[in-house]
Amino acid sequence: MDVIITNARLANYQEKVTIKIKDGLIAAIEDSHTESYEDKASENNANPTIYDAKSNFVCAGFYESHIHLDKACILDRCNIETGDLDEAVSETGQAKAEFSEDDVYERACKVIEMAIKKGTVGLRTFVETDAKTQLRSFNAIKKAREKYAFAMDIEICAFAQDGLTMAPQTYALLRQALTQGADLVGGCPYKDDHPDRHIEMIFDLAEQFDVNVDFHLDFDLDPKGSSIPKVVEETLKRQYQGRVSIGHVTKLSAMNTLQRGAMAGLLKFADISLTVLPATDIYLNGRDYEALIPRGMVNANELAELGINTTISSNNILNAFTPYGDASLIRMGNMYANIAQLSKDKDIEAVFDMIGKNAAKILSMQAEIAIGAPATLVVLEAKDAVTAIRTNAQALAGFKNGKQTFCNASAVILSGL
Ligand SMILES: [Zn+2]
Repeated sequence: MDVIITNARLANYQEKVTIKIKDGLIAAIEDSHTESYEDKASENNANPTIYDAKSNFVCAGFYESHIHLDKACILDRCNIETGDLDEAVSETGQAKAEFSEDDVYERACKVIEMAIKKGTVGLRTFVETDAKTQLRSFNAIKKAREKYAFAMDIEICAFAQDGLTMAPQTYALLRQALTQGADLVGGCPYKDDHPDRHIEMIFDLAEQFDVNVDFHLDFDLDPKGSSIPKVVEETLKRQYQGRVSIGHVTKLSAMNTLQRGAMAGLLKFADISLTVLPATDIYLNGRDYEALIPRGMVNANELAELGINTTISSNNILNAFTPYGDASLIRMGNMYANIAQLSKDKDIEAVFDMIGKNAAKILSMQAEIAIGAPATLVVLEAKDAVTAIRTNAQALAGFKNGKQTFCNASAVILSGL
């Protein structure tokens, strides 16, 4: 064995277990017993690394299905006055014209490291490729992806944030990015003069390059004018079921149950995944209310119960869209659960899946702990998944394909004497 993790608690196991790792894969999961692995190792001269999980919960790690590494950590370059979406887009638009490749690379590396230390093992990042940034951000993110491949799987979505029908250069740059290693293409129809045409153009690119599609969609609190029917129509027309994701979709939170149910039916039929972005959704929405400000966040549990693959993600870190952030998905799950007013264990467990296996599915990955699966594991300072979300548990250690990638020491109380 290369690594042996002792005293681990796993979902679906009553007793603590020992996880044995060989050649980057999980070779065995056995009931913990009193045998000293150090002794046995020295007898066999095998010298495996022993990690004592100390009765903490071990999971398969977290996945960000929607994050923007290129425009993270630019709070000092933004002047936030109204705090709404239009201001965030215009402030960021000004800042991004000045982005250099080195600047984007440094900020992306910072956020990736934050995420690794919080137990994230995979992420999908949007990268804006338009007249202001050209391919500078894209090239920087590609470099960062290479640097952190040992710890993080990174999917790059070439993204049209600021419109497409009126920006032919953006279309050409998206094409270039897809030719040069972008994994998928993303659009933002609500920032385009012609949202339906925008959706068609993004799908055209996706088909040409045979890649998945991800839309920022329906980001306001008007229940009317949803783009969901158009995205569903194009998904079905192009047989793209299972390959499309949408993020925000806060309009759903403003619809009545009947309207929301109808939209959910369409999403389920087209097998479209939906990502909720609590930190941004509740920060930017409802700015025109004087009192009883709406949450402006979709209840993903309700949609999950209707059969839709739902996830929770960080979206933005320390910029005008979200002037907070530590790239912690556990914290996002905790925040979401609180806003969605969840209390039952089964609902909180569903939240854990939304930052784990549901999000991995969007990245065409599997987050599972099983014999023969990649030894990608994260130790959380909690006894189980539900407690981890409820207590905003710290990630203590992580392993990617059998190699330890980080450790956080558990806090210790000192007597003060
Ligand atoms: Zn976003």
